[in-house]
Amino acid sequence: MKGKKIIKLTESDLHRIVKRVINESQSPPNKVSAGKKCWYYKKISEDKYSVDKRVPNPYSGAGGVQDFLIALGFNITKDWKFGNETAKALADWAYGPRSGVDTVEKLRQQLIKDGWGFDNDIPGYGSDMRYVVAGMIKLTCQELSARCTVDGQTLLDMELKERPKEDVKAKYELVPKTLDDSFKYAIRYWREYLKKPEVQQKIWDNMSVFAFITNYSLNSLMEKYFNALNTIEKKGWIDHSNYAEEEEASMYVNGDCPAYTVCVNVNYYYKEVYKKIGLRQVSIRTEDTFVHEIQHILWRKVQQLNSSISINQAFPSSVDRYSALIKGEEPPTVKNLTKNGIENWSNFFYKVPEETKKELKDLGISYDDLIKTYSRDEYDSYVCDENEKLSNLAGYRSYLTDKSTIKLGGDIPIDVVVDEINNLMYRDSSPQDFDAMIVCWVIGGMKPKLSVFVNELNDLAQKELKHRNDDPTQIDNNLA
Ligand SMILES: [Zn+2]
Repeated sequence: MKGKKIIKLTESDLHRIVKRVINESQSPPNKVSAGKKCWYYKKISEDKYSVDKRVPNPYSGAGGVQDFLIALGFNITKDWKFGNETAKALADWAYGPRSGVDTVEKLRQQLIKDGWGFDNDIPGYGSDMRYVVAGMIKLTCQELSARCTVDGQTLLDMELKERPKEDVKAKYELVPKTLDDSFKYAIRYWREYLKKPEVQQKIWDNMSVFAFITNYSLNSLMEKYFNALNTIEKKGWIDHSNYAEEEEASMYVNGDCPAYTVCVNVNYYYKEVYKKIGLRQVSIRTEDTFVHEIQHILWRKVQQLNSSISINQAFPSSVDRYSALIKGEEPPTVKNLTKNGIENWSNFFYKVPEETKKELKDLGISYDDLIKTYSRDEYDSYVCDENEKLSNLAGYRSYLTDKSTIKLGGDIPIDVVVDEINNLMYRDSSPQDFDAMIVCWVIGGMKPKLSVFVNELNDLAQKELKHRNDDPTQIDNNLA
């Protein structure tokens, strides 16, 4: 979820690239497609040669450089010697066929001219030049890969090269089809949820004053939400596996992801979910994650579904991380957060209100274990960002609705939350969105107490039917 990395080019870099592109277009037709070459460029710039046998390793000596050139379609012999033929082919690739570099020595001089440092003056492809050549190949691959794309056919071909047929079918048919179904589910979920009159009224009542005056009426606001859903549906989700900044980033809607679009790391769902725990899990997990991501789009493109004030009532520790990031400011720290982990954990412990401790005990939750579960050194403000919390709530509610634990738009009962917390602590089997809400509550000092927290969550999601009442006996009645 960080910004896109920008590679700055100097004017001479650009000149060189332009010259190269012109040269390349003049060179004889080559049987290797641009997409395939790009595949090699990307893999080499990502250092994949050390883990992926299909990627030639320019650091492994003359043979590695020759493998690389042959993969790009150069007609040379692999003899494990770095002679003039190899030097010329490499120069043709790096500087274009008109560079005039056709011997090892001329290549060496060209590299020196480019600013590459040599430790000694020994001619030929010694250990020195071997590293300079590899470094030049890698740098050039980095430059080229930043502006080329790998086509679908190449991806398919390269995947076929290493995977059995049934895996290819899973990756290119079963997993994407499951994602399609989950996406449709999420759109349907949001439409039905937003159609409920009590939910609509809640959104209207909970809006900030600013949001209130920028929307003429509840109807016009709801129309904006439904139009946004139509656009999201039309745009669909896209496979963003090649651009995911972290391997674990499963879905996201910011960064370089196009507007109104959910970007999916299909690779993650294929490798980490399908291969390890099966297709059914891909479906279960992606449904709620799509619901989560769509909340982010609605927030950004239409209007936040609850005011920051009401989010703050449920999560007193919530912060506005993204606004700070957009403004280029350091994101705020999470309130009440114990920064130094276990050592200060006892301090934190005293901050937990007595009534919270008592209630947890009555409900059968061990607060010692709860504290241990979240006793990490530091937490990023991400865990308490207000936008994230609404997405977590939407994702978790979708999960419960899908399981028929609650009705669409209905309240989450406290006993469901109690069971889920115990699942989370002892069976590691609760949804990520739930975990993400509880962590903010725990590190925020468990205020308000759990039953009030759950009421506040329900209040965020739908029209509150009960009177807000601080009388504890009233809340205890709700617990029954
Ligand atoms: Zn999110």
